[in-house]
Formats: sequence, structure tokens, C-alpha cells
Amino acid sequence: MPRIQLLVVQPTPFCNIDCRYCYLPDRTNKAVVAEATLTNLFSQVFASGWVRDGVTIVWHAGEPMVLPIDFYRRAFRLIDGLKPADLSLTHSFQTNGTLIDDAWCEFFAAEQISVGVSIDGPQPLHDINRRTRSGHGTFVRTIAGIRRLRRHGVPFHVISVLSPESLAAPREMFEFYVDEGIERVCFNVEESEGGHVSRSFGEAGIADSNSPSFAKSMRRRSRSCAPRRPSSSTSWSSRSRLPAWTGPAIWQPFRRNCWG
Ligand code: SF4
Repeated sequence: MPRIQLLVVQPTPFCNIDCRYCYLPDRTNKAVVAEATLTNLFSQVFASGWVRDGVTIVWHAGEPMVLPIDFYRRAFRLIDGLKPADLSLTHSFQTNGTLIDDAWCEFFAAEQISVGVSIDGPQPLHDINRRTRSGHGTFVRTIAGIRRLRRHGVPFHVISVLSPESLAAPREMFEFYVDEGIERVCFNVEESEGGHVSRSFGEAGIADSNSPSFAKSMRRRSRSCAPRRPSSSTSWSSRSRLPAWTGPAIWQPFRRNCWG
């Protein structure tokens, strides 16, 4: 029997920024999912018998934080009212980080939400692709959001889309994560598949064989690295047994979905 452990919900297609590699066609569309749609979705999910040992809901758009906190308060109450009483359910956000303020951090903490933030490395590398609609880099706002999460003790990881420039700069990438106290990193590699035709490495004339050498460099550095700052939390449930530096750990292809 199929099993649902992770459910990604898009509350709106809208995004407040305009990354150069983004291929979500509706990111200027400000539509918001209707409560009736959420009721329909979660009623069917919970009735399916496919959710057994707990489920994580990832709120992911577009940019999920363009919606007000109250939208999520209402959605969480609605979902709680539908779910089986003994089912463990956690919420997670995948965000570009530019809208994280103290009110959001307090909400994340109160609801024990873990957060994934998209950041592509230090400012010169991040701002190559992650820009506003008027073409300005978003690094300053994203890193401010990450630092705010850390100040509030909200567990987070980051996702970095690798570019030809960042592949050629493993030392700068690694030092950035360490300096910012970022302990959990997922790397996305843009690949062509189906209707998505661009390949960040291929278009720049860089062989995919650079990816393994970047990964090797990251692993070597993470093995020899002690944390420079107190560890931030990796999850709400494991705060007292933190790894020291887990380092860049996960590779995943950046294909048809958009990770924040
Ligand atoms: S990649 Fe994500 S953050 Fe960037 S424009 Fe697209 S939806 Fe927004």
C-alpha cells in the first residue's frame, strides 16, 4: 500500500522575487488556495489509509510567506480538525527567506515549524541568480532572515542551487556556511528534463564531472571542520543532541519543482 510521509502544499503560486533560473510560469499570479480546497485535500489524504506513522506538510509556493500568518493559523486549525487524533503531523516551510521577521519567527517557534531557506552561497554567488523583479540581489534580505531564525532558535536548513560560479568556488561556499552557523545544506543541481530545457552547467560549458569534485571538496572540508559558533537546532525534537558540523549533506536534482 502506498504511504504518504511528506505532502507539499502550494498555498499560492505568487513569488515576491524573480530568480533568473525560476521556471514557475505563474509566479506573478496572486491566487490563494481556498479553504474548501484544503478541506477536500486533507479529508481525502486522511481517509486514504496511506498516512500511518506521521506526516510532514511542506508549505511551498511560489513564496509561502507572502500570505499572512493568519492564513496559516486558520489552515492549521482546519487540518487539526480533520486529522485522526493519534496522527503525528508537523508543518514545515520552504522559503526564499526575504520576508522572515520577528512575528514569523515567533509563529514558527510557537508551532514548532522547521524551515528551509533557499540561499545560493555568499553574496556575490547568491545575487547572480536570486534577484528581485527590478534586478537587484536578494542576499541581504535572505541572510537577515536566516540570522533572525538563528536568534529565535528556529531549526532550519538551507538549499543552494549550484551555478557554474559556485561549483568553481567550494572553499568560498563552505566558509560561508560555517561563518553563518549553517549546519544543514542541500544542494540542487539544475538539470534538463521534460519541458525544462536549461542546464546550468551545460549552458556554461562546464562538464557535469565538476559536481563530484565539488562534492568531494565539501566532504573533505566538513570532516576537518569544527563548528565556529554554537550549534543551531537541527529539529525541534533533537535540540539536545546536536551533531557538531554535519556539513553539506544532501544532493538532489533541481528539475521540475522549485525549491523556494
Ligand atoms: S526560484 Fe523560488 S524564490 Fe526564486 S522566483 Fe522562483 S519561486 Fe521565487
